[in-house]
Amino acid sequence: MNLIRHWIDNELHDGAPERRGDVYNPATGLKSAEVALASVAEVDRGVASAAAAFLEWRDTPVTRRARIMFQFRDLVEKHLDDLAKLLTAEHGKTLDDARGEVTRGLEVIEFATGIPHLIKGEFSEQVSRGVDTYTIRQPVGVVAGITPFNFPAMVPMWMYPIAIAAGNTFVLKPSEKDPSVSMLAAELFEKAGLPPGVLNIVHGDKVAVDRLLEHPDVKAISFVGSTPVAQYVYSTGTANGKRVQALAGAKNHMIVLPDADMDLAADAAVSAAYGSAGERCMAVSVVVAVGDAADKLIPMVQERMAKLAIAPGDTPGAEMGPLITREHRDRVAGYVDTGLEEGATLVADGRGFSPEGYEDGFWIGASLFDHVTPDMKIYQDEIFGPVLSVVRTESYSEAIRMINDNMWGNGTAVFTNDGGAARKFQNEIEVGMVGVNVPIPVPLGFYSFGGWKKSIFGDHGIYGPDGVSFYTRQKVVIARWPDPMHRGVDLGFPTNQ
Ligand code: NAD
Repeated sequence: MNLIRHWIDNELHDGAPERRGDVYNPATGLKSAEVALASVAEVDRGVASAAAAFLEWRDTPVTRRARIMFQFRDLVEKHLDDLAKLLTAEHGKTLDDARGEVTRGLEVIEFATGIPHLIKGEFSEQVSRGVDTYTIRQPVGVVAGITPFNFPAMVPMWMYPIAIAAGNTFVLKPSEKDPSVSMLAAELFEKAGLPPGVLNIVHGDKVAVDRLLEHPDVKAISFVGSTPVAQYVYSTGTANGKRVQALAGAKNHMIVLPDADMDLAADAAVSAAYGSAGERCMAVSVVVAVGDAADKLIPMVQERMAKLAIAPGDTPGAEMGPLITREHRDRVAGYVDTGLEEGATLVADGRGFSPEGYEDGFWIGASLFDHVTPDMKIYQDEIFGPVLSVVRTESYSEAIRMINDNMWGNGTAVFTNDGGAARKFQNEIEVGMVGVNVPIPVPLGFYSFGGWKKSIFGDHGIYGPDGVSFYTRQKVVIARWPDPMHRGVDLGFPTNQ
């Protein structure tokens, strides 16, 4: 059985043989590998490696760090298909979707290649006689990243490229459910010239996370995952004096106004609800249909759902794959039972579906509920599967109020042809990422990603300018230089290395 090992100092480590987790191919339901689960000793080893590497890495010229990022960027692009295949085999999403995921990670690497420009400070000359004031941005030290199963390539790449380019060293604790893609990325980073210890990977579960949260040499933690764990990571990490950003769960609403282009809205609802089998933090899980919009929209959604190609992710033409584990599939199917018990109308039932020949995989088809109300559990909980709820409201104001009352605020969208209605939405809605006729408003690498309310804990969004700010500490210097510097004779052409 293949063992997925820790990556410390650019070398593989088995870890303790009694601590192993199982990794599956969700399409077949078969175990495909074991993953080493770190104990405290292995986490300490990873952190010690990162702490030792930090001293040299923070002093490596920023131009050199940027060049390594450029090399890494090229290697990730060259191996995009290899990364996508690994990802599909352990996560289950379709190859197309996996390629898209890696590409979104690549965009953050591209952003990080601009680090020399991004960490420039400010300068004010002559704030007093002979006195100047300036700011510099310095790395924080060892940073830990703890990431979820649903974007095993992209979410770690939201973190470590910027952290490392900024001069930090990094310990990644990827999801134990689909860890292989991070291993290939680390190998590519080594090929790009990354010195040992700058990026370490320790696999594991709560034991590893808890050690990272208390380790005195870990200065900052980036977390992405479910709301209860995000809240725990944020409160424990900050109580231990660390800088923490913790991005959390979601329940994303898409309002459809009666004047919307219904073709566009139906395509968007189906794509955003069932893409990646609903296992996206930006998946649309609730359509709020205003006035008579539902009567037009629902048959159009049904028509599209009937044509969805649900198949193993590496099957040509597959549009939706399985869920991550058997337990999660059963939990999602349980929500369909709950919705029926609560009195919602089940328009399409995905329970019991599996593609022929894959009966042992973690399958469920696409489900659609109509007449869902905010007091129902299927409305309140993050189901994280291919289950879409339609809530009907009389008015636009009621729809906006419902979203603002929801405890989550990751992403949302409005579908309308009325610019004034769209403007009202972007102004009044209490959600961090807003789409106007765009169902999954995930910003590109040069903006920052982050929700509001219980979808985030901490003050920083992830990647983009917020990422640079999170992974650096600003220092302000006030300097007086009464005497000119004397360098002596030097006829050489200055280099930046
Ligand atoms: P999860 O919270 O179960 O796990 C996330 C990470 O935390 C994993 O590395 C896991 O090993 C670790 N972990 C799990 N339980 C823990 C515990 N009790 N103590 C300490 N560490 C623990 O999340 P998941 O199921 O892997 O991912 C899905 C969730 O992530 C969904 O809620 C989704 O909305 C959310 N998510 C959010 C974003 C975002 O940007 N807001 C992006 C992707 C996923």
